[in-house]
Amino acid sequence: MGEGKILEVDAPDVKQRDDIDPLAPLRQHFSIPDGIIYLDGNSLGALPKAVTAALTHTVEEQWGKSLIKGWNCHNWIDLPARIGNRIANLIGAEKGTVICADSTSLNVFKVLAAAMKMRPERNVILSDTGNFPTDLYMAQGLKGLTGDNLELRLVAPEEVETALDETVAAMMLTEVDYRTGRKHDMKALTAKAHSVGALAIWDLCHSVGAFPVYLSEAKVDFAVGCSYKYLNGGPGAPAFVYVAPQHQHTNGNPLTGWMGHNAPFAFDLGYEPSATMDQMRVGTPQVLAMTALSASLDVFEHTSLEALHAKSVELSEFFISEIKRRCPGLELASPTDPAKRGSQVSFYHEQGYAVMQALIDHGVIGDFRAPNIIRFGFAPLYLSFAEILKAAEIFEDIITDGLWDKPEYHQKSKVT
Ligand SMILES: *Cc1c(COP(=O)(O)O)cnc(C)c1O
Repeated sequence: MGEGKILEVDAPDVKQRDDIDPLAPLRQHFSIPDGIIYLDGNSLGALPKAVTAALTHTVEEQWGKSLIKGWNCHNWIDLPARIGNRIANLIGAEKGTVICADSTSLNVFKVLAAAMKMRPERNVILSDTGNFPTDLYMAQGLKGLTGDNLELRLVAPEEVETALDETVAAMMLTEVDYRTGRKHDMKALTAKAHSVGALAIWDLCHSVGAFPVYLSEAKVDFAVGCSYKYLNGGPGAPAFVYVAPQHQHTNGNPLTGWMGHNAPFAFDLGYEPSATMDQMRVGTPQVLAMTALSASLDVFEHTSLEALHAKSVELSEFFISEIKRRCPGLELASPTDPAKRGSQVSFYHEQGYAVMQALIDHGVIGDFRAPNIIRFGFAPLYLSFAEILKAAEIFEDIITDGLWDKPEYHQKSKVT
């Protein structure tokens, strides 16, 4: 195949890059199977080793021994706020403005309804065609509940700024496009939304844990995000929701469950919202899932988001340059400017699904997004430059030798 020559040239170079990488020691906090190059941490983060012991401890020592007393003696009841405050540190939010709860989809619904309630004289939700579909679906559900007295206006991502006008009640965007990795300018768009009297809602699913986010500085009104991607909280880990301090008095959560009540254990028949972020809670917190998430957040204590971002840029730039050289026919779907990109790199390929199945079969796990995107996530906490080079070599073999064109690689699974 002739790659041997390339390897000889590059190998010492990547070894040197790994040797001087200040984040390289963090890899030891993760359990990743031998022989796997994991480029899908933007979809499901890898397993932090501490999670296993933390779960065992909570199950055996807390649930097993304390039983229902655990809600008080282990303070399970305040897990949403405690974990919320830790996530707040990762997204530039003040203490008391974030809670961990439910799923991102549910949190989108809560904040969207809250925002619309704050702008009763307007009825437009502005979003873009690059948004993650669940966010748009939740908006459509809200629209149905209002007897269609609400408009979900969708424009191309690059047209959001000009589409912001005085009919818009809420601008709802995802900072990083899940397919291409294109990153919106959160601060500028939020300022523009405010200038026309609209509220700004941001989905941080592909941002949190990969690079710094400055919610408070950008004056964002509401935000949501999930914790199973770059935060490594595990499959189905609970999401988070942010409400700017000045909006907390509006108590706009329409899902008025008892945990959002001002005094849940008074068991009053009428709903009285909590005056704190607890107002965004609905039901009983997922203690085991939050235990895993809490342990996974510990890894972030060893570094900074600035350092993570710097490494994410280096890893992705390295991958792009290798693929460009090795597979010049492949079209990059992501922005070339790292400042305009999240921590992922995507390419277009007509047979993207089969190509990704071949990659996975050869030990490189990324994913495919319909209709033609091959996506690679760069989780800076646990990836090495040597792995990126190896992944590029395997990718080259699969493309150059057409290794993807086997019947079994065309068989679609339920989850892609
Ligand atoms: C992953 C992702 C979600 C997922 O929502 P869930 O309710 O956790 O399934 C939502 N929005 C965006 C932008 C995502 O990337």
